[in-house]
Amino acid sequence: QLSQRLATVGEFVPKGARVADIGSDHAYLPANLALNHRISYGVAGEVVAGPFHNAQHEINKLGLSDILTARLADGLSAIEPADRIDTVTIAGMGGPLIRHILTANPERLAGVNRLVLEPNVGEATVRDWLQQHQFKITAERILSEDGHTYEIIVADKVATPVTYTAAELLFGPFLLPEKSPVFIAKWQRELQRTQMAVSHMQQAKVAPTANLAAANAKIELIEGVLA
Ligand code: SAM
Repeated sequence: QLSQRLATVGEFVPKGARVADIGSDHAYLPANLALNHRISYGVAGEVVAGPFHNAQHEINKLGLSDILTARLADGLSAIEPADRIDTVTIAGMGGPLIRHILTANPERLAGVNRLVLEPNVGEATVRDWLQQHQFKITAERILSEDGHTYEIIVADKVATPVTYTAAELLFGPFLLPEKSPVFIAKWQRELQRTQMAVSHMQQAKVAPTANLAAANAKIELIEGVLA
């Protein structure tokens, strides 16, 4: 049984896809998709030996080794041209790490037309990477599970570049107009946190910095959305 978070990532993997799940840990996501005949092939990439062995163990235990392969590799280097991967999932990491992984081996994304990403924090930097690499956000989800809030970003390769406003990058072009209760609660917390950070910076009586300006700009954006 997958968590609601991983099940939601899985929902956006096209039927019959050839998937690379990067940072797969136990390979729960590709294993579930393979068991449900949702994918035709999958690679579970892991950079750390322990999780890589977990993935291998899970794949063997479930008898999925015809469809799934675990690879010990850093980021997208788990993808080999012969895999003909068309969909990449990256879940359960910070946005800056997801961005780093996407940036490090761009040639491995040749042939990939869908990305399903679940950054735990720093979603804006992931959306910014997408707009710079001709991936258009086609769906987003926000959900709360076990006291955490998760955002899932689905993006498809497009021929013409897309650009997002500062508000769309921060809040998400689909999540922003929807303003779900989970979304509102997240940004109320984020507003409080940012206001607290600003007051600490002001109490420290250091000269105004770029951090302070960025925090004030963020507060203004959040207040605008919650108004
Ligand atoms: N994707 C699973 C999920 O969402 O439940 C596991 C998330 S787990 C918190 C993050 C995993 O990413 C860890 O197992 C870690 O070893 C792996 N990881 C971190 N950096 C990586 C990289 N550069 N390449 C591949 N895997 C990486």
